[in-house]
Amino acid sequence: MSSIFKNSLLLGAGLLLSVQLQAQTSGFPLTNLDPTADPCTNFYQYAAGGWMKTNPMPATESRWGSFNMLAKANDVKIRAILDAAAVSKAAKGTPEQLVGDMYMAALDTATLDKLGAKPLGPIMADINALKTIKEIPALMGKLRPMGVGGLFSFYVGIDAKDSETYRVHLGQGGLGLPDRDYYLKMDDENKKIRAEYVKHIDIMFSLAGQKDAKAGERILNMETELAKISMSRVERRDPDKTYNKYTAEDFYSHPDWAAFNWMEFFTLMMVPDFDAVIVGQPDFLKGMVAMFDQYPLADWKTYFRWQAINGASSIMTRAMERENFSFYRGVLSGTQVMKPRWERSVDLVNGSLGETLGQLFVKEHFSPEAKKKVSQMVEELRVAYGKRIMALDWMSDETKKMAMVKLAAFNYKIGYPEVWKDYSMVDVKPNTLFVNMQNVNKRRFQLMIEKIGQPVDKNEWGMTPQTVNAYYSASRNEIVFPAGILQPPFYSPDSDDAINYGGIGAVIGHEFSHGFDDKGSKFDAVGNLSNWWTDKDRELFEKRTKQIVDQYSRFEVLDSLYVNGALTQGENIADLAGLTMAYYALKNSLESRGEIPLIDGFTWQQRFFFGWTHVWSQNISEKELRRRILTDSHAPGKERVLGPLANMPEFWEAFNCTPGMPMVAEDGVRVTIW
Ligand SMILES: [Zn+2]
Repeated sequence: MSSIFKNSLLLGAGLLLSVQLQAQTSGFPLTNLDPTADPCTNFYQYAAGGWMKTNPMPATESRWGSFNMLAKANDVKIRAILDAAAVSKAAKGTPEQLVGDMYMAALDTATLDKLGAKPLGPIMADINALKTIKEIPALMGKLRPMGVGGLFSFYVGIDAKDSETYRVHLGQGGLGLPDRDYYLKMDDENKKIRAEYVKHIDIMFSLAGQKDAKAGERILNMETELAKISMSRVERRDPDKTYNKYTAEDFYSHPDWAAFNWMEFFTLMMVPDFDAVIVGQPDFLKGMVAMFDQYPLADWKTYFRWQAINGASSIMTRAMERENFSFYRGVLSGTQVMKPRWERSVDLVNGSLGETLGQLFVKEHFSPEAKKKVSQMVEELRVAYGKRIMALDWMSDETKKMAMVKLAAFNYKIGYPEVWKDYSMVDVKPNTLFVNMQNVNKRRFQLMIEKIGQPVDKNEWGMTPQTVNAYYSASRNEIVFPAGILQPPFYSPDSDDAINYGGIGAVIGHEFSHGFDDKGSKFDAVGNLSNWWTDKDRELFEKRTKQIVDQYSRFEVLDSLYVNGALTQGENIADLAGLTMAYYALKNSLESRGEIPLIDGFTWQQRFFFGWTHVWSQNISEKELRRRILTDSHAPGKERVLGPLANMPEFWEAFNCTPGMPMVAEDGVRVTIW
């Protein structure tokens, strides 16, 4: 979804794409089980069947997992922080003032409704003032720092082949639907969505007080053209394909796109001089510039009006917000009811001043003990990984040596940043939501372009501390675990080790493994896109990753709807390898303890797999499942359990599963990589 909160940080792959009242207990409740199911036939049903039955999805959600429950519990904690901040009368520029007033402004629906579409006025005036298509670069340069995007992506991030340097990046973008496939697929489901999208655009124009005949149809046409010249998500997984570097001089004069006045675009954004640009999709830029000759000025004005309206839809009137919900959450995801205002306002503060809010969050909700325990697990996992690498029968000693160098170089961060980004100068008031957001966007933009020419900031984080997620950054070769994920069901000081290693332990293994998946394995120990494999070993590795692509492509999630094995391969490799490493790290740590007693009648091996399944237990709407199959690089929760476990002899042994049973992958199908 196009959003005014678009994050420009270049991240590695996260653990899940997005998360959204109850506290969860530690350990593994036996009520999660469905004892009528057979663990060797369908382990997900066996270990999550009870959970699914007793945790129906609330009407405000489109996916409801134990993951989401943790995120929701965090929202309740954040609400208490924001309520206190809002009445704190803290000095201007302090974190309390900034987030408290932003929260108040988001709650003040009376003012938002009274203002109507007025706050959009100056932006609309700029768009209406366009006299020729040649003026579009200047318009975009003026609007981009305020958060109004469109057409293509622009950000400053680490150069994939020079990990000590930030560089300007340009790439495809400009779509209002979540993926190019929504425009290009000819099945009934997608045709219906496109028709709804056209209707939605027309309603939004009218709610914003803009008269623009057939705006929806014209925008769909233009976006379909953009979709046609866009790379698919699978193509974009190849970091070599998306790395096209030009000197500034070559870029400006390139015949494919010199017709667009880039110099003016960058100058208006006050981007400092730079030596080079990295283009993700040169064909896209070429096609986009060609489109300026194909559509009249009136269509371009309509396109940018839509960018402004759509991006601001959650900070305008309640009617606009409701309409935005009914399309993006309703039509696309199957959500029935909007979340309450306070929760949407928490989302808004998280999405705008998330790191500032995080400073307050970790003061109350961060445990140094959890950090200590997780740091220890990271080192145990590193040892387990090293042993596995050295014992691989398909890899040469030469490549193993390089893999070990990379493994030893992994950096990790736990909890929250040591240095916070400074938002103290941003003007935020309790009754000017639209202007607040523009001010935050301008500051965020400034922080981004200031990086050009500066050394890479080692303290920078790509997630806020309160986020229930984790990530790997290939360019930094580091794994990061925010405070938000160091809680049940991932980690609890009261849980037995088997549950914790099946939870946060496997998550740590998962993030490590992104450094060795189809994409991360192309980056070296210092974060450069640079080959450290022998040709023969790379070939053998790709034979194995091809097997995992095939294996997941056979998972049918709905009638005739299959997992996209190619799109999800990185995550699936990370799940399989991560679980394996966590299993052996746990085994090593238990070795000196003698006989490990049963808990609730289950062995530690069995409980380890319960821990993993608990994390992925979920209910999901059919529409959301369809949307995620097209857009999510992760397989659905059920397949994230069935896939890796069927490949693991450690699992078969734990539950006495024998060849021929569905949870035992046959020879020839079974995948082992790391
Ligand atoms: Zn991941």
